[in-house]
Amino acid sequence: MIPRNPTGNQTKTYITDPVELLERLNLTSQQMFFSAEAAQQFRFKAPIAYVDKIQAGMPDDPLLLQIFPVRQELESVPGYIKDPLAEADSLFQPGLLQKYDGRALLLVTPGCAINCRYCFRRHYPYDDKGHMWGQIQNNIQLIKQDNSISEVILSGGDPLSLSDTRLGELIAMLESIPHLKRLRIHSRFPVVAPQRINDDFLDILADSRFQIVMVLHINHPREIAADSQASIEKLRKTEIILLNQSVLLKGINDNAETLKQLSEILIENHIIPYYLHMLDHVQGSAHFEVSESDAVQIHQQLRAILPGYMLPHLVREVAGEKSKLPVYAC
Ligand code: SF4
Repeated sequence: MIPRNPTGNQTKTYITDPVELLERLNLTSQQMFFSAEAAQQFRFKAPIAYVDKIQAGMPDDPLLLQIFPVRQELESVPGYIKDPLAEADSLFQPGLLQKYDGRALLLVTPGCAINCRYCFRRHYPYDDKGHMWGQIQNNIQLIKQDNSISEVILSGGDPLSLSDTRLGELIAMLESIPHLKRLRIHSRFPVVAPQRINDDFLDILADSRFQIVMVLHINHPREIAADSQASIEKLRKTEIILLNQSVLLKGINDNAETLKQLSEILIENHIIPYYLHMLDHVQGSAHFEVSESDAVQIHQQLRAILPGYMLPHLVREVAGEKSKLPVYAC
């Protein structure tokens, strides 16, 4: 339901027009190297709760750079392709990925709270691959037939784009499979659109027989403000495990001080900093690339200033590999 303001009018919760965002932030198209074509290739979408954390008049704001469609996305860069993790080939059947032993990944929706310009699924052929709700029953049958699977990962898009009714139905169907023990939910909603963490959703989590792990995706400490902290606190009270994964992004978090602040605010909010990902080489994202040597150096600096439990693993995902690969100094 769309929230209403005190006058009874509907309150806008998302911005889908990049020009409207520019006006709101007192910025010009030229300052931001805006590209309508890039926005056409991968739709612009940002929740108001996220936009409110962007500093007006700052073209290099790290939250703005994550979402704004720019001309550089149209450049063709060798090695940057539409499906860098070859996911279309890893499909067990539409909507069901089995990249890792013992775990099955369900693509349950193409929708997200926010469209991140570096997203490795920005070109994912959701329509062709038929991951939609209609496939769920078939995919659950397949999971039921494979006793080796103990964990299901809900992904998308962002699984919290589903209504609570659908999520509740889905989790109930999974709970009826005796060999499943854990449910993992990957979501950016609790931080970028914290109002999504409502009582119905919290009840679903609290009532589940599964051990639930929620993997958040937070790249910069400024993404966590009072509203997101309140939602995270509600999640924490349901006794689920909270982890975070970040992507190392040029101009956004590619320095040890920003990442230290991120780890500190994560731990303050009882979230374990889990992975720091190298950028997946998806077409349109090359301007976010941090070189491997720079990444290793930043990670070493971070290791020197943080206790071990606050240091995320620096990893790269490689198509066809059975796990993420650690990135070390040579
Ligand atoms: S929220 Fe996740 S799946 Fe959605 S666009 Fe961002 S990175 Fe991609």
